[in-house]
Amino acid sequence: MTKNFLTLNILAVFICLTLSACGSRDNVSAETRHFAMGTFVIQRINHKDYNEISQSVIDRINQIELKMTVNQEGGEINALNASAGKESVTLSEDTLYVLNKAKEYAQLSRGSFDVTVGPLVKAWGVFTDNPRVPTRDEIQRLLDLVDYRDLDIDSDRSMAGLKDSGQMVDLGAIAKGYAADEAIKIYKANGVQSAFISLGGNVATLGGKPDGTPWKVGIRNPRGPEGSYIGILSVKDKMVVSSGDYERYFEKDSVKYHHIMDPKTGYPSDSGLIGTTIVADASIDADALSTAAFVLGLEEGMKLIESLDGIEAVFVTEDKKVYITQGLISSFEFKDESKEFEYVQKR
Ligand code: ADP
Ligand code: MG
Repeated sequence: MTKNFLTLNILAVFICLTLSACGSRDNVSAETRHFAMGTFVIQRINHKDYNEISQSVIDRINQIELKMTVNQEGGEINALNASAGKESVTLSEDTLYVLNKAKEYAQLSRGSFDVTVGPLVKAWGVFTDNPRVPTRDEIQRLLDLVDYRDLDIDSDRSMAGLKDSGQMVDLGAIAKGYAADEAIKIYKANGVQSAFISLGGNVATLGGKPDGTPWKVGIRNPRGPEGSYIGILSVKDKMVVSSGDYERYFEKDSVKYHHIMDPKTGYPSDSGLIGTTIVADASIDADALSTAAFVLGLEEGMKLIESLDGIEAVFVTEDKKVYITQGLISSFEFKDESKEFEYVQKR
């Protein structure tokens, strides 16, 4: 891991030097790579101060992670979880904003997106070195703790609390989206007009490429190797977020268990979708909705997306069909090298 990261860093420096050498003095386009929020962060910034700007973005992402993580000690979400069933805790504006958004999407998806899945995520341990399949009894007990309505947010007093002891919030499905939106804010504040950031699959774009053409974002083939795609989206000033059963999983007795939980069953979501991609103006919305739609499945997920203004989607099903919403017809190019998928424009 460390070694790989080092190799990647060396490679990144090489790319930066090559790229930065390409631009004129005031119009330098460069790529930087860092590791933050448990993932690789790639930024392409068209600005002579790309180094400082990309570092400010990483500092901000690290700040957000410290507040919202449950994978290391400290921070506001850990404090909220530790006080569950006892008292409310004071939260920063960042965390309050994300929690309010999380609740909004839990309501919209009628609980398919639910950040109180924390106890389930922990029990399955998909992110640990020792993932396991909990017993049915254990899952039943934990399901009692999962209910977004038990997350009480008092925005006026900047406080939030969880009703019962043992309840836990996990912002894994939405915090990266918020971080990507904050990155775009930093680019704008620095006068950048063309930028791209990828936070482990969450892509955010500002403007188009330096030459004015749209950014190209590949939609992963959920059943192919890393780097294989089923299509390409062309976007400007848009956020593109994907969720899939291929992102993180473990295998036990030849069964694959992935990291997106169905809060109704307590098991990894089995809705018939294997990949969802959302295109939106804000990454926090796209992030929450990619997870929500993944759990809702094709019919319900499509209904939800179509009910929302300015939100578009690409859905990939288990039976290898690719669906898109109307608004993507001109920006999505179906390109399946595996020749295994079928493109269904309309249902
Ligand atoms: P990724 O982290 O791969 O980008 P997602 O945005 O879909 O994928 O988020 C998945 C993460 O969100 C899980 O790792 C877990 O921490 C949390 N989570 C799992 N299931 C749900 C759910 N139904 N609602 C909200 N959060 C979830
Ligand atoms: Mg998500």
